[in-house]
Amino acid sequence: VTERLVVIGGDAAGMSAAAQARRRRDAGALEIVCFERGAHTSYAACGIPYLVGDVVSSPDALVARNPEEHRRLGLDVRTRHEVVAIDLDRRVLRVRALDDGEETTEPFDQLVVATGSSPVRPDLPGIDADGVFGVQTLTDGIALRSAVDALDRPDGAHAVVVGGGYIGLELAEALVQRGLDVALVESGPQPMPTMDPDMGAHVAEALRDVGVALHLEDPVAGFDVEAGHVRGVRTESGVLTADIVVLGLGVRPNSKLAVDAGLAVGSTHGIVVDEHLRTSADGVFAAGDCVESRHRVTGKPVVIALGTHANKQGRAVGINATGGDVTFPGVIGTAVSKVCKYEVARTGLNEREAAAAGFDAVAATIEGETRAHYYPGTTAVHVKIVAERGRGRILGAQIVGEEGAAKRVDVLAAAVWTEMTAEELASLDLGYAPPFSPVWDPVLIAARKAAEAARVP
Ligand SMILES: Cc1cc2nc3c(=O)[nH]c(=O)nc-3n(C[C@H](O)[C@H](O)[C@H](O)COP(=O)(O)OP(=O)(O)OC[C@H]3O[C@@H](n4cnc5c(N)ncnc54)[C@H](O)[C@@H]3O)c2cc1C
Repeated sequence: VTERLVVIGGDAAGMSAAAQARRRRDAGALEIVCFERGAHTSYAACGIPYLVGDVVSSPDALVARNPEEHRRLGLDVRTRHEVVAIDLDRRVLRVRALDDGEETTEPFDQLVVATGSSPVRPDLPGIDADGVFGVQTLTDGIALRSAVDALDRPDGAHAVVVGGGYIGLELAEALVQRGLDVALVESGPQPMPTMDPDMGAHVAEALRDVGVALHLEDPVAGFDVEAGHVRGVRTESGVLTADIVVLGLGVRPNSKLAVDAGLAVGSTHGIVVDEHLRTSADGVFAAGDCVESRHRVTGKPVVIALGTHANKQGRAVGINATGGDVTFPGVIGTAVSKVCKYEVARTGLNEREAAAAGFDAVAATIEGETRAHYYPGTTAVHVKIVAERGRGRILGAQIVGEEGAAKRVDVLAAAVWTEMTAEELASLDLGYAPPFSPVWDPVLIAARKAAEAARVP
């Protein structure tokens, strides 16, 4: 008997699940149907800032596999089709074809919900005006790039990025590269609220260096609109001229379909899944930005919307939905980003998160160098480690610096993951040669300092 696996969402999580399932079951045994409301599949949303900044010139370059390529591999991919309801009792979906509005009923034996997330859009006056962009899908990215391309005179046009999350900052840099005057409005004391303010201050410096005007501790209050198009961003302290506005206030899981169907959804708004990515309903899996995951340091559910998790979870779902047994062991919030001259990285908990989770934490911050002091091209790197007082277990770390800073966080991520202490990390056998690091790598120096700080009662 041919079973039917249906996937909602045609990007990282959904298409990883579908492709993995197809590898394990041929078309005679399993029909696989994927519904995607946009026109694109398997696109790299992570590459959108580089499309907007014209580092990459064509949207096609961001597509790993288009619908036709998926079809050739045996997946029935239906783009411009939106799933509007899930009926768990009858095991059917209601699907709307967006080109003609026609609705059909589609049965499933196994279902994968991979609907992703959407940019947060606070209910502020004027937010729905033309020229205000939330950026999540490739379609959103193409729309923003087209708006920049269409400016009569990009040089001197004004863009305002609202919110200092990493997506907003990457897009701020892209808009500077295109010649716009860019301002950033952020309610917190520094951009990049996932970092502690002392590390966020370095990010602020990198943005100011390229001319981004920072309006910190100045929450957005609304948008001025003329003839349907945004003209300004109102903050508590004034009005900023804007031809283009980018929302960088974070994302929220697209879990409404799941809520309406009666699937369990957590207080994070993410769909609740177990280690095998099974939802509260039999034969229904979920993966990617739309689910909540267990944070391995706090043990609590979190929504951390990253492509890294979406790909791993999608793969696991494809295996589990076809009779396999793979678990997703949780997340620790490892993330890297390029903001102007700096690579910015974090893993685990920052100081604020450690305190909120009830840890008695200490922090150690050092400024080191990325190469031997005599080797050309060495630059400063700032490393901060948060550790538990007493035992010295590493709870988290942040790194900001030029080339060679970001991927140093991976060692720290492994330390957080394995519950290593700062003492153990300080004596880890890391590689050294003058072009790559000083003989004492900045990570080791920071670990030594964190171990000392943790010993102070
Ligand atoms: C600008 C930007 C930069 C990023 N940079 C990084 C990075 O550097 N590193 C990193 O790890 N992550 C990054 N991310 C995050 C990463 O792109 C996401 O975590 C990842 O795309 C999530 O994959 P997903 O499949 O869960 O969701 P999505 O990629 O959001 O895909 C979900 C898909 O489901 C479709 N859909 C939703 N509802 C329905 C419905 N009812 N019916 C049919 N289709 C539906 C949507 O159209 C969408 O295509 C970035 C994201 C953005 C926007």
